[in-house]
Amino acid sequence: VAKRLEKFKTTIFTQMSMLAIKHGAINLGQGFPNFDGPEFVKDAAIQAIKEGKNQYARGYGVPDLNSAVAARFKKDSGLVVDPEKEVTITSGCTEAIAATMLGLINPGDEVILFAPFYDSYEATLSMAGANIKSITLRPPNFSVPIDEFKSIISKNTRAILLNTPHNPTGKMFSREELETITSLCIENDVLVFSDEVYDKLAFEEDHISIASLPGMYERTVTMNSLGKTFSVTGWKIGWAIAPPHLTWGVRQAHSYLTFATSTPMQFAAAEALRTSETYYEEMKKDYMHKKEILVEGLKDVGFVVHPSSGTYFVIVDHTPFGFENDVAFCEYLIKEVGVVAIPTSVFYLNPEDGKNLVRFTFCKDGDTLRAAVERMKAKL
Ligand code: GLN
Repeated sequence: VAKRLEKFKTTIFTQMSMLAIKHGAINLGQGFPNFDGPEFVKDAAIQAIKEGKNQYARGYGVPDLNSAVAARFKKDSGLVVDPEKEVTITSGCTEAIAATMLGLINPGDEVILFAPFYDSYEATLSMAGANIKSITLRPPNFSVPIDEFKSIISKNTRAILLNTPHNPTGKMFSREELETITSLCIENDVLVFSDEVYDKLAFEEDHISIASLPGMYERTVTMNSLGKTFSVTGWKIGWAIAPPHLTWGVRQAHSYLTFATSTPMQFAAAEALRTSETYYEEMKKDYMHKKEILVEGLKDVGFVVHPSSGTYFVIVDHTPFGFENDVAFCEYLIKEVGVVAIPTSVFYLNPEDGKNLVRFTFCKDGDTLRAAVERMKAKL
């Protein structure tokens, strides 16, 4: 393997989902729903295939989807963007992240991450040759340590990576935090790469796109996807929205990474994004119910459960059960209890920072969540 990837292991999600199958454990690890996406979205994909929409799509997206993404972004953030010049369709948000890093970061550029961070950020930054710095968000609230942030960001910083609602903690960056980040990014001429794939799973307050804050649009790449919102994580449809000068970099990388994204799925995605607000309301209500089942259950089991105000994840502190670290705890949980969770230490530059924390997902039906809780009650 190339040196830039030497330090990375098989992704934790792959490892854990394989172990779930091997041990017949209930998988509350990798974030994928165990229920299907809506019929109208699936029908739209079938129809597109039958209608012969099966050859390469236009590289930066089928026009209908570029327009649907721009229209959805306007509804959600108030920003008016040009679907032709400022929207790029990618193979999932993971590709949008990779294309953004590879298209806009030079070797040696300094990029700041908030830890814990989604694993692909560090890997794709390594591929781009970035100089990675991180700032650790700590429980219970995972707030941004402003003084530390101020001491790390400088004129040498090229970009920061933001993720709100935040995987794995369920934190949502507050307006105040986003404003502080904004003023420091403007002052130091720093770009923001903002992963907002859980924007529709914001349970307490509305999601805020940092691009909508004054002075930010011109320096922000906003990334999102279809998978979480429409329970089709396997479709791998994502996008990046950015002003033309940044879109150029993203598109150049995208052109040579994947060239184009699945054509029929793009047509179906456009149909999905045109759905009514009721769909999103219902989905959110449903997830709030699931969250309650899991959170109350985890408390009964005896975990310290940290508040989750967005995403379909919740972070707990496992130390009441006396294990050495998150990996040891998760191993026991899989082999002896029959439940899979994600150890969080892989989401930090310094793994020690995550050793007390594990992540559970609640994107599963109620019976599955209850069954997992029962197993833990019986065996922990
Ligand atoms: N985003 C999903 C999660 O956090 C995992 C996606 C993947 O497996 N790479 O669980």
